[in-house]
Amino acid sequence: MKGVKKENLPSKICRVCKKPFIWRKKWEKEWEHVKYCSKKCRTKKTMSKILRLILGDQLNSKHSWYKEKEDNIVYVMMEIRSETDYVNHHIQKVVGFFTAMGEFYQELKSKGHNVIYFHLNDKSNLQSFEKNIQQLIFQHQFTHFEYQEPDEFRIDQALKELCKSIAISSAVVESEHFYTSRLELADFLDGKKTFLMESFYRMIRKKHDVLMQGEQPITGKWNYDSENRKKLPKNHKPVPPLVFNNDVSAVLDEINKTDIKTIGTIIPQAFVWPKNRTQSLKLLDFFLTECLPFFGSYQDAMSPGEWSLYHSRLSFSLNLKMISPKEVINKAIDEWQRRPDEIQYNQLEGFVRQIIGWREYIRGIYWLKMPEFGNMNYFANQGKLPKWFWSGKTKMNCLKHTIKQSLEYAYAHHIQRLMITGNFALLAGIDPSEVDAWYLGIYIDAIEWVEITNTRGMSQFADGGIVGTKPYVSSASYIDKMSHYCGSCFYKKELKTGERACPFNSLHWKFYDRHEDKLGTNPRIGMMYNLWRKMKKDTKMAILNQANYYLENINEL
Ligand SMILES: Cc1cc2nc3c(=O)[nH]c(=O)nc-3n(C[C@H](O)[C@H](O)[C@H](O)COP(=O)(O)OP(=O)(O)OC[C@H]3O[C@@H](n4cnc5c(N)ncnc54)[C@H](O)[C@@H]3O)c2cc1C
Ligand code: SF4
Repeated sequence: MKGVKKENLPSKICRVCKKPFIWRKKWEKEWEHVKYCSKKCRTKKTMSKILRLILGDQLNSKHSWYKEKEDNIVYVMMEIRSETDYVNHHIQKVVGFFTAMGEFYQELKSKGHNVIYFHLNDKSNLQSFEKNIQQLIFQHQFTHFEYQEPDEFRIDQALKELCKSIAISSAVVESEHFYTSRLELADFLDGKKTFLMESFYRMIRKKHDVLMQGEQPITGKWNYDSENRKKLPKNHKPVPPLVFNNDVSAVLDEINKTDIKTIGTIIPQAFVWPKNRTQSLKLLDFFLTECLPFFGSYQDAMSPGEWSLYHSRLSFSLNLKMISPKEVINKAIDEWQRRPDEIQYNQLEGFVRQIIGWREYIRGIYWLKMPEFGNMNYFANQGKLPKWFWSGKTKMNCLKHTIKQSLEYAYAHHIQRLMITGNFALLAGIDPSEVDAWYLGIYIDAIEWVEITNTRGMSQFADGGIVGTKPYVSSASYIDKMSHYCGSCFYKKELKTGERACPFNSLHWKFYDRHEDKLGTNPRIGMMYNLWRKMKKDTKMAILNQANYYLENINEL
């Protein structure tokens, strides 16, 4: 900087008082390294001791927190019972979170950051965020506490309360992960009568200039859904999924020493999910190379024995923030530009829509509607989930395969979650809180902000039409249209009544009959009501009796 006139120097922002400054006495020698506008501010900084909390789903090594190492900053990560016990999680979910947290801890340590890590069975671990933080503040005399915006309402509230109760100053910063801020959807919808994902999706595409030419989408068309709903052709063998044979025995041993209740199975020497950013990026590369060319076409397809088809299985990595939605989208666009002959635009748009559209929209709804959303039950459903939801032991082939793979991999793809398990739960009138607890527990990617809005909202219509404009329910004909489940099922897809009648058929009509007061005027399902009203009285009675029989014997289906 020698020779540069002081008035030509760029200004900096003081790390402490946050005011711009351009001049310090010894600026010629030190300007590059100067962080504070005055000695006073520098002293204030070096005297302070900052504690920063990293939650289990905040493993974002690109966060600006980690740009520089500061001796006076200590990070803390914790494996705690308040997080393992709020619902019965799949064992792979607990192991997956703790393994990824452990990897992130090692990464931060190797980069020279100060990190305290509470292992599950450490004696000093008081098993809650609040207690551990209070203990640390007392033991190490921290003068300031910071955390990143949590994605869960429950934790957001708990940390706000904690900050009120501690005697030191505190601050919350953005998690720097999503395209939109927490309240951006609320602002976008202000004054609008209807909620529509499509318009929010278009707004984000424009704002972030994703696949745009000026104000218009580059192909002139926004939506390719109509090209994207194909059944998997017979004899089409999808590429085998990339899995990581991670050895997670040590983490599992620690969990097994406790009385934490879990569901599902695990092979500890061959854990399939990515454990860190490097593996997450490998999974992304695999998806782009092998799956993206077919993603859109088969995103609603289902097949027995194929647990992930052409889906990305990136939700775990994304939700823990090991990778960011922006880098996923940018790489997908680069891949499409590199291989235009192999990757049709509709495949790319289908994928971009899931991440920029649905994921951001769902999060926006969560922050707009919580905490009321968690208690919504539009149809006043009170039923209990049948016991085979925890074993997969049912004669219904579609449910058997979906549940068994969920127990085996802690994963089912979207259309299985929506149109198999979710569809059945809604048709059977199950209490949405029961359904929520099942989804929140069983899937490796289940974090409340994205689980509850999808389950209670999109799948169970318990919000009365906030997330979706009509309930996602179907009879066997849709399931047969999109899958290869029905052919080898005990039940007959074409029968509505009788011993072998597919339960989806009668339950589907019972659903419409039972909720005619709430749904009868919905224009999107008018056709179903026309068909139902035109049906002969005897036929209707037989269907309703069949449905009632199935509901009374739900555990035996
Ligand atoms: C009843 C129900 C419960 C669900 N619970 C969860 C959950 O707990 N956690 C979760 O991440 N997703 C949930 N989803 C959304 C979706 O099913 C999963 O994100 C997806 O199956 C994850 O697999 P994937 O990564 O292979 O997705 P892909 O099919 O490859 O899609 C790519 C990405 O798009 C995003 N995405 C796609 N659909 C949605 C959606 N509806 N909402 C939010 N993001 C979406 C995900 O980040 C996903 O990784 C749920 C859907 C339903 C119907
Ligand atoms: S016949 Fe019915 S129960 Fe059997 S797989 Fe088809 S939809 Fe599922």
